[in-house]
Amino acid sequence: MTAATDVLDKLVQRLGETGVLQDPQEMERYVSDWAGDRLGMPLAVVRPDSTTAVAEVVALCGEHGMRLSPQGGHTGLVGGALPEKGGQEIVLSLERMNEIRAIDPVNFTMTVDAGCILETVKQAAAEHDCDFPLSLGAQGSCQIGGNIATNAGGLNVLRYGMMRQLVLGLEVVLPDGRIWNNLKSLHKDNRGYALQQLLLGSEGTLGIVTGAVLKLVPLPDQSRTALLGLPSVEAVIALYGLARRGCSDLLTAFELIPRRCIELAMEATPTLGDPLDSAYPWYVLMEVAATGPVDLGAMLEQLLEDGMERELVLDGALASSEAQAGQLWQFRESMLEGQRLRGEHLRTDIAVPISAIPAFVERASQRVQHVSPECEIIAYGHVGDGNLHFNILPPVDMAEAEKYRHLHELEALLFEVLDEFNGSISAEHGIGRSKQSAYLARLSPAERELVEGIKTLFDPAGVMNAGRLLPPR
Ligand SMILES: Cc1cc2nc3c(=O)[nH]c(=O)nc-3n(C[C@H](O)[C@H](O)[C@H](O)COP(=O)(O)OP(=O)(O)OC[C@H]3O[C@@H](n4cnc5c(N)ncnc54)[C@H](O)[C@@H]3O)c2cc1C
Repeated sequence: MTAATDVLDKLVQRLGETGVLQDPQEMERYVSDWAGDRLGMPLAVVRPDSTTAVAEVVALCGEHGMRLSPQGGHTGLVGGALPEKGGQEIVLSLERMNEIRAIDPVNFTMTVDAGCILETVKQAAAEHDCDFPLSLGAQGSCQIGGNIATNAGGLNVLRYGMMRQLVLGLEVVLPDGRIWNNLKSLHKDNRGYALQQLLLGSEGTLGIVTGAVLKLVPLPDQSRTALLGLPSVEAVIALYGLARRGCSDLLTAFELIPRRCIELAMEATPTLGDPLDSAYPWYVLMEVAATGPVDLGAMLEQLLEDGMERELVLDGALASSEAQAGQLWQFRESMLEGQRLRGEHLRTDIAVPISAIPAFVERASQRVQHVSPECEIIAYGHVGDGNLHFNILPPVDMAEAEKYRHLHELEALLFEVLDEFNGSISAEHGIGRSKQSAYLARLSPAERELVEGIKTLFDPAGVMNAGRLLPPR
């Protein structure tokens, strides 16, 4: 009997047949991500249903030096949850750990299993007149554990922050199988090093998150959404300044959308008509939300008036009902689908200071167009966080093999421009496998030593999500 068969037998004894999948057909749905990317099949997919079971699986795999990869909703976009080639890795799916453990609406906290789907968590919070304010396009599939591991942000970061700001306590199974229970519901806790924060954004390389205490906010009882047409990115940034000051800090979203994305949304969802009377080079999709006696409609109308007076805003539509607001948001969602339908393209999630966005978009566009005039650039994103998806669509008739090489070169070029702006190569999706070399190339020797030291401290054998973030040992 090989060591692998021995481990698999023990896993079946512990988790039962339904807890350990080994049939390639059954494992199929765990091997590719939202974008359709895949690398290889795992040795098995294990599906423990409790923290103790996760700890036992991790300890058993650790004893035999087997590599483990935690997996959430596989909506990550950097290949972090994809099993490696060669079939030697065990995928540990958290999908059966999906209980809401407790909600405390007075303390504004909620304790959940890591496998809870984000959408479910938001609905459960809403039943208690609270909101868990992380919102992203993948919220119907991504899990809280995945959100923690990737330090997810989303549409409302400008008001509520990323997962680092939204998690108060964690329960983690360390790579040697010990359970680290830090499920505290404290809004202030200033003891020593912020160890727990290391797990946020660790991409499954330091341990498996099994539970979390999340920070809630009051559920807004009113919100208003507007879609505005603007002449330039400069105007978008100037309007953002007005909105931040004029909306009493009630802004929850401020999205930059180029005309091409509106077209892609209409291609993907043919029921969508052009949202404004004419086409504009740039659009802003914004939302304000509040509880209590605030006139959000008047606030947005005033902003629109000020924006038009200063010639920043050319046209705009204010949604007058929830259904209309939903329709405006549909453009934001459908434009992602529109890009996906175009096949392989360069996806990025970069950041620069908010004030540098216009200059960055201009310089990066010039450099890309100089090298590759036939490619289409679509730069959109969460302006309030300085976070842009500067994506590049290759010509439809470009050969597949050529596309990969070409897009890779354009990414390197884009990252060079980003360095000139002291930006970040990943503001959102993390490093995973796809950005590893660009990430490592930008670490100073001191940073690299610290990063490797942290990995070694948590996972001396290098078995936890090997090859993601850092090269495998
Ligand atoms: C349409 C779409 C829109 C998106 N929009 C946004 C956005 O606005 N903002 C944003 O930040 N991201 C966005 N994403 C990316 C993605 O949704 C997030 O990264 C999300 O947090 C991943 O969660 P997941 O459960 O799908 O994790 P997975 O993809 O399964 O895993 C991601 C990483 O986390 C690790 N991991 C998963 N669960 C655990 C766990 N319990 N313990 C330890 N490690 C774990 C995995 O090993 C992997 O490295 C978007 C993705 C899509 C497809």
